[in-house]
Amino acid sequence: MTWHLEVDAHTCIGSGMCAALAPEWFELTGETATARTAEVAEDELLLDAADSCPAMAIAVANAAGEEIGPRP
Ligand code: SF4
Repeated sequence: MTWHLEVDAHTCIGSGMCAALAPEWFELTGETATARTAEVAEDELLLDAADSCPAMAIAVANAAGEEIGPRP
């Protein structure tokens, strides 16, 4: 099963936390982060990154398209 990962470039403030926490999934390009790939393997690190993003710019959805990160 794969998840879907998205970073909202308009909301991202370029803190770099996601790229530091999970460099295999995120990279800082210029002043914003991007997801290295939109379709990702299930990885708890993605939820941790979404939870810790100060701008709430990271969205993780499961295979059914339901948003699972950030967690409430
Ligand atoms: S943690 Fe959030 S605000 Fe910081 S670079 Fe990543 S997406 Fe942008």
